[in-house]
Order: sequence, then structure tokens, then C-alpha cells
Amino acid sequence: MERIEEILDGVTTMGIAGHIRPDGDCVGSCMALYLYIKEWYPGIQVDVYLDHPKPVFQHIDCMDEIKMEAEGEKAYDLFVTCDVSARDRLALAGDYFESAKKTACIDHHVSNRGFAMENHIRGDVSSACEVLYGLLDPEKVDRSVATAIYTGMAHDTGVFQYSSTSPQTMRIAAKLMETGFNFSKIIDESFYEKTYIQNQVMGRVLAESIMLLDGKCIVGYMKKRDMDFYGVDGKDLEGIVSQLRLTRGVEVAMFLYEVESQVFKVSLRSNGCVDVSKIAVYFGGGGHMRAAGCDLAGSMYDVINNVSEQIEKQLLGQEA
Ligand code: AMP
Ligand code: MN
Ligand code: MN
Repeated sequence: MERIEEILDGVTTMGIAGHIRPDGDCVGSCMALYLYIKEWYPGIQVDVYLDHPKPVFQHIDCMDEIKMEAEGEKAYDLFVTCDVSARDRLALAGDYFESAKKTACIDHHVSNRGFAMENHIRGDVSSACEVLYGLLDPEKVDRSVATAIYTGMAHDTGVFQYSSTSPQTMRIAAKLMETGFNFSKIIDESFYEKTYIQNQVMGRVLAESIMLLDGKCIVGYMKKRDMDFYGVDGKDLEGIVSQLRLTRGVEVAMFLYEVESQVFKVSLRSNGCVDVSKIAVYFGGGGHMRAAGCDLAGSMYDVINNVSEQIEKQLLGQEA
């Protein structure tokens, strides 16, 4: 695989961006690359674009330098996307991707078909952060960069728990840890900690969840009016689908919330039998074998029916 210095050859201006509703891996990979370039390539003028990252990522350096809006016409020498599975998932800086002289994509979604000029996509790797690490010079990964990479790896592996966690993931994590950041604080504050309201909402979704397909599929949902009642948005609902997945006997967990009237964001998690990325792709979304998502219009009843029908097809296919 090419290394970062080859990608940066001849570059004096550079933009970096992640996907809409940026998660830990997205923020971590974009910021790690940004911090690395700032530190080791002072001759490159670099900007990072992220769509309103959550305050739980404030432990990463230079979060106040993130651009949350595009700023008029520009043509970067190089534009890099991190953790972005498809061109239409690129948040706010899409025009800069189009106008850039060279584009590169650093990602780990199996559904990613390679939309940039240079594609560094490893569907078998835990996180975009881990793919990025493979492109960097490990000797130049200081505490600041390591903190960002570790955050993304911890988030996308469910704190080194999901099957995407490999021995290499742990070796990299160990190497990062040696730079001396407070890993337990990062994990607690950015991953596990919930506000009282977030816990209340999770409790409500779990209490109202339904079991389908002989207990192999669990469905949780939240309608717009209930989200308004609690004063929560999509960012407050992270972690709910993971909790649903842990229900005994369940193969697939589905969680949906209403982003606008009759439009739902659907999150899918699998325990291994069902490839949920295939289901998400079928509905115009994407993701990984065990974690994927899509956006669907229609009544809640229709959305649940249509998605569970595809889950059932895969489950039945395995029985046959
Ligand atoms: P989520 O359920 O939002 O946590 O997403 C799980 C995985 O699926 C993440 O890796 C997302 O990048 C991916 N994903 C979620 N929604 C979409 C979508 N609408 N299109 C493409 N990929 C998605
Ligand atoms: Mn992501
Ligand atoms: Mn990711």
C-alpha cells in the first residue's frame, strides 16, 4: 500500500472531510490526519471539515479548528475523505471534493466501491482510523495523533469487542497507548457515559421494543413527537441499537428513528448469521457485515416490514 508521503507528493493545499452525522471513527480519523499533516508537513495548508461533531470528542486536540461549513469556492490540490462509504455520504464539503485536483478515500466499509481517484479501502479492518494508521509513519504518531486514532478504533470496535477487532488492532492500540494518554477517561467520557435523558430514552425504547421472526429480530423505534418530548436528537440515540443486539436469542437488531415526518434513519446490527450491509445496500444505504444503516421513507409500519422481510429472507436462506 502507498504511504502518506506518496499521496502528499506535490501537494500544498489539502482538505479533509468525513461523513454526515460523524461518529468517533469519523472524527478520530479526520482529526488524526489533520493533526499529523499540521505537525509534520508545515508547508501544506490543511483544512478539516466535519458536520458538528459531538462535544464528547473535545479531548482530541484542535477541535476548535474544525470548519463546520463550506466557505466559498476553492480548488484544493488534494481532498481526502475518511470513513466515508459513498460519495453521497460526504458531508458539507462535497463541492471541494469535486473541484480538487486529486482525491483520496481512506475507509473500511465493505460497501465502499471506491469513489475517489486513490482509494485506500480495507473492508476487513476495524476502523478508518486503523486503515489511516497503516499509511502513516508510526514513528511520527505522537500523543496528539494517537489520541485521535485510539478514539476512533475504540468507538468502531465497541471498545475492542466486535469481531472486526484483530490482533493487529490490539498491537496498534498498544503502540498508541505507549504515547501516554488517559485511555480509560477517553473511553468512559466519549463512549459509555450517557446523560440522564439519554438513559431515560434508551430505557423507553427497550421497554417498547418488539420481537419479530421467532425472536431472531428485535426492533426498537422512536417517533419524532417522542424525540421532541424528551428534547433529544439522533446523536442522543447512539448505543441503543447495540443494547438491543445483546438480547439473548436475537440475530439482528433494528433501531429506527424519525428524522422528519415519515422519514426514518434505520440502524442494523447483526450477531453474525445475517449480513446487514447487504440489506442496507438493498435499501440504498451501506455499512459493514455486522453494522449497517440506511434512510427510508414511509410509515414506520412499512419500514419495519420491508426491512424485516429482507432479514427473514437471509435467515430462511440459511435454513434451506
Ligand atoms: P449507524 O447504524 O448509523 O451507526 O451506522 C452503522 C454503519 O453503517 C456505519 O459504518 C455507517 O457508516 C453505515 N451507514 C449508516 N447509515 C448509512 C447510509 N444511509 N448509507 C451508507 N452507510 C450507512
Ligand atoms: Mn463512521
Ligand atoms: Mn468507521
